[in-house]
Amino acid sequence: MKKILVTRKLLQSNEDRLKTLYDIRLNSNDELYSQKKLIELSKDCDGILSALTDKLDADTIDKLPKSVKILSNFAVGFGNIDLEAANKRNIAVTNTPEVLTDATAEIGILLILGACRRAAEGIKSAQASDWKWSADYLIGKQLTGTRLGILGMGRIGKKISKIAKSLGMVIHYHNRSKLSPEKEDGAIYHKKLASLLSVSDVLSVCCPASKETVNIINKETLEYLPKGAVVTNVARGDIVDDEALIDALDRRKVYAVGLDVYKGEPILNPGYLKHKSAFILPHLGSATKETRTAMANLAIDNLEEFFKTGKCKNKVN
Ligand code: NAP
Repeated sequence: MKKILVTRKLLQSNEDRLKTLYDIRLNSNDELYSQKKLIELSKDCDGILSALTDKLDADTIDKLPKSVKILSNFAVGFGNIDLEAANKRNIAVTNTPEVLTDATAEIGILLILGACRRAAEGIKSAQASDWKWSADYLIGKQLTGTRLGILGMGRIGKKISKIAKSLGMVIHYHNRSKLSPEKEDGAIYHKKLASLLSVSDVLSVCCPASKETVNIINKETLEYLPKGAVVTNVARGDIVDDEALIDALDRRKVYAVGLDVYKGEPILNPGYLKHKSAFILPHLGSATKETRTAMANLAIDNLEEFFKTGKCKNKVN
């Protein structure tokens, strides 16, 4: 029986399934393993079912036991894993695409609505019974007719744009490559990021964190946005230079932010906390029972496929 280290606690039904298939090392306390502990616990393991909270950098991967042949990441993003280091060790890396698209897009839309309609301020005032209805109370930005810039029109970006379109938003996007007209579904392509930003009344960051995209939203690129734009990020914190975005909020260049992900999470840059227009969530993108169950099942399917065939359709390296 193959031995698998499962680095984070999963939903019960997924752990029950794993028990029928493998000799598993579970993390019943759901502690965040240090590099040292993760390496120790993977002794004699054939694979690791990892999570985005595991920093599988080159040094950690180099020190993994020789028995480890696959890192099945419980996420669609794999910015936590050094793919080059995995390639050098001939370790397969897999992810869980598609099953989390809808849930994450829902949070992407919540970020847009929450930031544009001043939900953070509204919730605070309602909870304190400190408000009264008036014609000019908490006036926000209406989405109808507003231009939405999608940075990364992939699975999640497309689903966000479909919902946003139904809300009357006009969709623009930037990818490295232009989509077919059918996939664009009326969205307007911008070859350059600067061009996309210049028309983004609302920006939705949906691209993966990679060497190319780290801090791609920074002091210089933020200047391309129209004054009073809204910036939302449902992808990864590493894509945004926090100091630059907070400075843009301070200067009212940016009207509001909607964020689900953060550099160095769960600690947030304190600059965001002082802005009442910051609508902030604790990385809830895929957090529904249906989606978390499907993600873990897919991570298990990836292990199964890999051990049976030596290949896996969700291999990313
Ligand atoms: P996807 O289908 O692979 O889409 C990624 C899109 O980004 C593609 O359209 C790609 O187009 C574009 N892109 C990649 N590199 C780029 C670059 N350097 N510049 C501009 N565009 C670039 O991925 P997905 O399933 O939509 O997921 C996207 C990301 O969402 C994941 O990587 C993950 O980090 C994040 N996510 C967050 C949560 C959460 O809980 N908040 C949940 C799930 C996923 P080109 O290749 O043509 O450039």
